[in-house]
Amino acid sequence: MSFNLVMIGPPGAGKGTQAERVCRAYGIPKISTGDILREAVHDGTQLGRQVKETIAAGSLVSDEIMIGVVCERLGRADARRGFILDGFPRTVAQATALDEMVDGRGPIIAVVLSVPEHELVRRLGVRRVCADCGATYGGPGSVTESSGAGRCTRCGGLLVQRDDDNIDVIRQRLRVFSQATEPLVRYYRGRPTFVSIDGLQPPDKVTADLRAHIEAALAMSRAAGRAEA
Ligand code: AMP
Repeated sequence: MSFNLVMIGPPGAGKGTQAERVCRAYGIPKISTGDILREAVHDGTQLGRQVKETIAAGSLVSDEIMIGVVCERLGRADARRGFILDGFPRTVAQATALDEMVDGRGPIIAVVLSVPEHELVRRLGVRRVCADCGATYGGPGSVTESSGAGRCTRCGGLLVQRDDDNIDVIRQRLRVFSQATEPLVRYYRGRPTFVSIDGLQPPDKVTADLRAHIEAALAMSRAAGRAEA
């Protein structure tokens, strides 16, 4: 059965790392809206020029732009059998649009990773990313805890700090999360396929909890499908 996983959580909660693990286990694509936007900025496309300042300020790109980006991406063949969204939806308007996009394409399984603010600030402060392939270093469960000589162990690219991982922008992104994205938790909370997972646990335990929840949610959806038939 195909499923659509939505990872919700503040920046630094480990969404990207966990999404990467789950997509490998289930063979469905991980779609990170942050990665799509950063690539567009890097390539200097029209989208990139539209969103560059907003990302640098730690604010949210408009719902209209984001819904268009995700709608186009979910229309591609590799997302037909399910997908994992990392960083979308971030507002209730985006979540409502997502419900319409996936209508009839399997259940939406919504997972919140919760981590206290002081730990998020610590994690984001030490996080480094590869300037070439985007691999993340320094966070719990990331490609590697220690990146050696400042080079990516996957492709040899230079490790850099993301522009929006400086302390002022980090604080702004955390504020935006609590104002715009926390209402999402209320939006999904009533659904049987929703779960909140403690993101302070060791990364392997977070992955185990996540996979157990996916299996339970799928079993529930199958049972509901049989009851309707
Ligand atoms: P992330 O890598 O998920 O932390 O995203 C980096 C930045 O991209 C965010 O701080 C926002 O400026 C923008 N962004 C990514 N996804 C969204 C979204 N779903 N809605 C609005 N802005 C987004």
